[in-house]
Amino acid sequence: MPLGEFDIIARYFSRPARRGDVLLGVGDDAALLTPPSGQALVAATDTLVEGRHFLPGTPAAALGHQALAVNLSDLAAMGAEPAWCLLSLSLPRADAAWLESFAEGLYALAGQHGVALVGGDTVAGPLVITIEVLGFVPPAEALRRSGARIGDAIYVSGTPGVAAAGLELLRAGRAGFDSQDPRVQRFLRAEPRLELGRALRGIATAAMDVSDGLLGDLRKLAAASGVGAVIELEALPLAGLQAAGTGAAAAERLVLHGGDDYELLFTVPPAAVARVASIATATRCPLHRIGTVTAGAEVACRRDGRPVTVAGKGHDHFA
Ligand code: ADP
Ligand code: MG
Repeated sequence: MPLGEFDIIARYFSRPARRGDVLLGVGDDAALLTPPSGQALVAATDTLVEGRHFLPGTPAAALGHQALAVNLSDLAAMGAEPAWCLLSLSLPRADAAWLESFAEGLYALAGQHGVALVGGDTVAGPLVITIEVLGFVPPAEALRRSGARIGDAIYVSGTPGVAAAGLELLRAGRAGFDSQDPRVQRFLRAEPRLELGRALRGIATAAMDVSDGLLGDLRKLAAASGVGAVIELEALPLAGLQAAGTGAAAAERLVLHGGDDYELLFTVPPAAVARVASIATATRCPLHRIGTVTAGAEVACRRDGRPVTVAGKGHDHFA
């Protein structure tokens, strides 16, 4: 028996929402949700297109994870707490095994962060996955890109570049999707930094998630804040990449230009720098001070105090 649209929804995407604020989830014309009073509703959406955002043959469970992870990362970057999501799925065929794994990957990450899938759309077409995520933040505490001030310290979380290294291994055919190489694992299952984002409320002056490369994304943050920035290349966290087997030059390139890690990039005023170490401990996430916000509009790099020009750039779909 071929699976129809309504079988797909009923079988794979109708798990009951375990949240009291979902009055009505999947099944009616729309979901009914009750946002907490006094909080701002935070909304973000992201689309994954086969061949564009993921390699053909990517395991369905990894796609279910990634499609939600990229959205949760946007909420993390706002300092928000996620609550609900909607899934729009365009599928070339109704493949039960694929749908089973995809739903498993999606619900596993959703459950980890208490997010309920409350609706969506299911159509036939090329493989395209769109998720919209909704959450809350106290309006005055939302982390924006625009608040960086001259003299602020610039930080990046975790191990940027590791996922991009995994993607390069897959692209080059040097690893398969079932590889246990930590770089490949990280690429397939990036963890959105939600706890860190919330911990940075009231401390970070500006924040964003690194999805298109650290250097390019820092340019966006600096432009939004009307400031410049300098990155000290020797302060970049290369140890994780080098431990996984990536050479030093490649490691620096991957940290500066690699996407897909969904680490957070943020700025902290000098007076709050001492608190960053305790946030790193509390969230069990290493935080690396990599530079300083400057006057002007340029984002520059230095090595051991000397200006250097860095080649390459971040990702742009239309470039
Ligand atoms: P309508 O035709 O009224 O837009 P649909 O028939 O598209 O509704 O969807 C029926 C119900 O199933 C709706 O509640 C919708 O939100 C939900 N839904 C459809 N596709 C998905 C999906 N992929 N994941 C979760 N919920 C879905
Ligand atoms: Mg309807």
